[in-house]
Amino acid sequence: MTAARSEAVWSGLNESQADGTECAMCERSFLLPELPPEYLPEPIPGTRSGPSGIAAVPVGRSRTGSQVFACAGICAALAWPD
Ligand SMILES: [Zn+2]
Repeated sequence: MTAARSEAVWSGLNESQADGTECAMCERSFLLPELPPEYLPEPIPGTRSGPSGIAAVPVGRSRTGSQVFACAGICAALAWPD
């Protein structure tokens, strides 16, 4: 992942994607379902895990400058703004 990639500017995101609480690719929520702590997976280095336990990778910024995330794995691999 390059610096340029994480600074990519995304447009056409919904409100949740733009504020980093939904995957920019598949719209999966990083907040729901909210798992109890004993069910949360081990955090993966370089990713952020929210209450749902889904590992999320920063993939750029929204037009307002907030960080945009995608699920670690196929979403992050394909994440690139249109
Ligand atoms: Zn995703």
